[in-house]
Amino acid sequence: MVTQTGSWEALAVLVSATLFAAAGAGWTCLVRSWCLQDGTCVAMNGSALFPTFQCSFANKVPLMSDLLFQDTASMSSNLAGLTRGMCGVGERLTLSELTGRSTCMLLRPYPDALDQEVMEPSASTDHERACGAWLNGGVALQPSLVQTVEYLAFDDTAERAAAVRSAEAAQYAGSRLSGTNPGKLRTACQRAVLGGSGALRAAGQLAYEYLVEVAAIEGVADETTALKSLGVLVGHYCDAPILFGWNLKVNGLRTSVRRGRSFDPYAMASALKIVGASTTLQAQAEVSNKHVNGYADSSPEATTEQIKQVLRAATQRPAEDDHIAGVFDLDLYQAELDGYVHLLVNGALADAKAYLHGLAAMCAFSLESLVPAPGDAATPDASPASRWRTRMQRELPAAASLGALKAPPNHSPLFEVASEDILNASTVTLSQLVAGEAGEACLELTRMLFPDETDELHHQIVISPRLYDRMDWMVEVARVGVTHVLRNDATIRGALTDPDAVALLIDNVRMRIPGAPRGSWGGATRPIPVASFDSADGVFVMAAKQARSIFLDRQGTLVYDGDHACEAHSPYTALTANAFIWPAMSCSFYLLGMSARPFADGAYDDASLASRAGYIFAHEFSHAVLGFKDPYNLTTIDGLLSDFPCSSSSTRDEAFADILGVLGILQTGLVNSSELCLHVSQSWVSTHAHIHRSSFHAPPACSRIECV
Ligand SMILES: [Zn+2]
Repeated sequence: MVTQTGSWEALAVLVSATLFAAAGAGWTCLVRSWCLQDGTCVAMNGSALFPTFQCSFANKVPLMSDLLFQDTASMSSNLAGLTRGMCGVGERLTLSELTGRSTCMLLRPYPDALDQEVMEPSASTDHERACGAWLNGGVALQPSLVQTVEYLAFDDTAERAAAVRSAEAAQYAGSRLSGTNPGKLRTACQRAVLGGSGALRAAGQLAYEYLVEVAAIEGVADETTALKSLGVLVGHYCDAPILFGWNLKVNGLRTSVRRGRSFDPYAMASALKIVGASTTLQAQAEVSNKHVNGYADSSPEATTEQIKQVLRAATQRPAEDDHIAGVFDLDLYQAELDGYVHLLVNGALADAKAYLHGLAAMCAFSLESLVPAPGDAATPDASPASRWRTRMQRELPAAASLGALKAPPNHSPLFEVASEDILNASTVTLSQLVAGEAGEACLELTRMLFPDETDELHHQIVISPRLYDRMDWMVEVARVGVTHVLRNDATIRGALTDPDAVALLIDNVRMRIPGAPRGSWGGATRPIPVASFDSADGVFVMAAKQARSIFLDRQGTLVYDGDHACEAHSPYTALTANAFIWPAMSCSFYLLGMSARPFADGAYDDASLASRAGYIFAHEFSHAVLGFKDPYNLTTIDGLLSDFPCSSSSTRDEAFADILGVLGILQTGLVNSSELCLHVSQSWVSTHAHIHRSSFHAPPACSRIECV
């Protein structure tokens, strides 16, 4: 999705061979043309399988390919053939660091990224010349089983991410390597696990007592202190009757107030029981929670001033700073907060305190749930608090860490992301975090609570200093190429209402790489927040302190002091294969999932780097047109894309970004058009399995359009 303000789009790609001849002539949406011409597929618009694809295709080539290739003389008598073994086209038998077993992996050649092995030089179409051997190298699966597009470029994304995480985990493993806060938390966690369920419960109780203390719950004496206490808990990513996040606005990141959580009956009581609270308090918290829920929808609305009091405590910002947060977005209604305020006004003070105790206990319970004791798997926690967490995880978006969402399962490599995802990522709460597998829980806890440090480690593993320098150069080369076309190409200029303004915007777009060194060209500028740990804290107090420091950094520093949207974080974890731009915010993200071969490598020759990562940079820059209202000269652009049958505005946006992006890369002079076509074909080719017929039909990559 792309609109003028505050929203953004996931990278999508199309390429046209005809573009190289004359921009705009002969565009066809191949998804339509080959499907319809051949009668091999039906239009997938709005189908159950591809609800978000307007004209997409799917095909499946299994990794394990047919054995015929092994008998060819050329394959069996050279190194390539001998090391390929039983693997498919373009693959080699390799020892997996993860499993310790040999496995087939894509070779991903360098310094020339063009993979000769997947090509079919004698073929008649562009896409077959670029990728014919790979496309023909598989056997068809049962059509009924084939539901996903397989991309040559993204075939091994998941394995690559797993390898990165494995290398990252080793960097702060063991108590003797616990010099950093992530290492300290992980070590404290491992100590508690070794101590067994009793130690974990004691650590959870400490976290509860810590939250009660920092939120000054016992000191609550009136409405003001009750709202303040609530704010401190919200500021620990605790689940609460009101939540704060942020939204992208033209003038920056702005606070968004969202409806909070309601708690099921007995959830609070069971959490309080686990942390050793008295039965009296348990009962009182239940009564209060019932009151809050009962009056959520039938009480006067909380005032803006009351909401601001909670916000100030959550962010540690004084009232004088209210104006910086701006006129914040209010969700439709804050029903649960209304219920809480009703409790403050109409209940006894002790009732409000009991409710706050319940919130703190739920918060500590959420932390404790992230580290199951050995043997817990045999006796699943069936407490109401646990059931409530399970429900939250079912109903809310899956969170990867504080402030970041998990990429959807089986996602297309270039999935679409809406501005709603930014909100959802910024309002992740502890209940949304899911414990890691047995033996991995402490590691996963560390990743979930230290998103900045984890991104930094992933960046170091994925992007070598040499590659990082070359990406910097390539970003600038692509920027100059695209802006030159905008300022000089008559056809492109004629298609836009104000090409010079677009060029000026691109001059100022920041390209953000997750985990990049702070202060470097692709990084945020402010330092990573560091919480003050004490060796006596115990794992869950450390976790609560860390959550607090992240919240203050995001909801405080970022929203109040951040001078650029690129100071924010990717709403999806950094290893996701995606790139996107917030056009009106002059900020583009290029994620780590796109920062390795076949898209980027320090050893790539200039043509390969320009045609792959560079092409994506240029495509994203080109979307800067969407930072303007009515960016297109409609008559002219429709003429430019006259043969482009996917007529929605989003496909027009992608088509234009590809035209401009390709022209921008050609303008750099680093690669010629035929070579660029081959590179882009190999980067973006995917396979297609027909739903109704089992034959293969691959899209001609150089003239293929994927409308996302
Ligand atoms: Zn795009």
